[in-house]
Amino acid sequence: MSAVLVLLELAPDGLVRGSRRVDPAAAVLSAADLAATRGDGVFETVSIAHGHPQALEAHLARMGRSAAMLDLGAVDVDGWRAAVHEVADALADEPESWVKIVLSRGVEGSGIPSGFAWGAPSPDHRIARSDGVRAVTLDRGLRSDAAATSPWLLAGAKTLSYGVNMAAKREAARRGADDVIFVSSDGLLLEGPTANLVLRIAGELVTPALELGILPGTSQADLFRWAETAGIPTAYRRLPVSALDDADAAWLVSSVRHAAPLHTIDDRRLDVDREVTAGANAFLLGRTE
Ligand code: PLP
Repeated sequence: MSAVLVLLELAPDGLVRGSRRVDPAAAVLSAADLAATRGDGVFETVSIAHGHPQALEAHLARMGRSAAMLDLGAVDVDGWRAAVHEVADALADEPESWVKIVLSRGVEGSGIPSGFAWGAPSPDHRIARSDGVRAVTLDRGLRSDAAATSPWLLAGAKTLSYGVNMAAKREAARRGADDVIFVSSDGLLLEGPTANLVLRIAGELVTPALELGILPGTSQADLFRWAETAGIPTAYRRLPVSALDDADAAWLVSSVRHAAPLHTIDDRRLDVDREVTAGANAFLLGRTE
């Protein structure tokens, strides 16, 4: 099964007027589309398990919040949900796949947003999920209060401007690592370029407080839901970098890859708790909504 592409027809107010499945190899985006020329839009990546989009309502709600932060107007949740299901149905034979939903400000000057849903089978993340990954901390160059003082920086919105996030991942590779933990310029742990950070400290699963301008993760929220049913306490907190020294296990958590345990952060070695990781991933992979 190869890629699947559904093109949306949007009204100026964001209403989804229609959708059509198109050849994923076809040229469908205008060169003047602001998604292409300025990264001016928002997106979500939703995991699909055997045709079931996972955490879809949380993703749609987050897309609405991101769109509001970019003054993109209301997101037609019903229209986007239908597009996600169209892609998910086409990928139902795949145990794991994903769909990216993209809402752009549209062709420059047109005043009409554009959008599409684009899906494909997932890469094989089994090794990352079992053996773990190595991360480096990188200064994001923003203070921990940037979301409050400078909302135009769009911290905490899932915009199409992911050039910085991808550059951080390349910097990680240059340093011999697989992934990144961003740190605020005043020394608080934030998130990865495409994942949330969860530390286990004194038996509690802790993730950085959401007011720090990080993206509220759908997978992290569901991981916490699972942890609570498994009797593991959870918390959101402001965490200084030194909290890494207090952690006996850590994970980067995101859609598609799900929970990737961290075996190394900078020069710290951490245990990979295979039992907790397997339990968490079985839960995340087993979600049917
Ligand atoms: N933080 C950032 C910056 C992300 O881009 C993502 C997802 O791509 C996440 C966190 C994890 O969010 P989710 O679990 O909803 O995929």
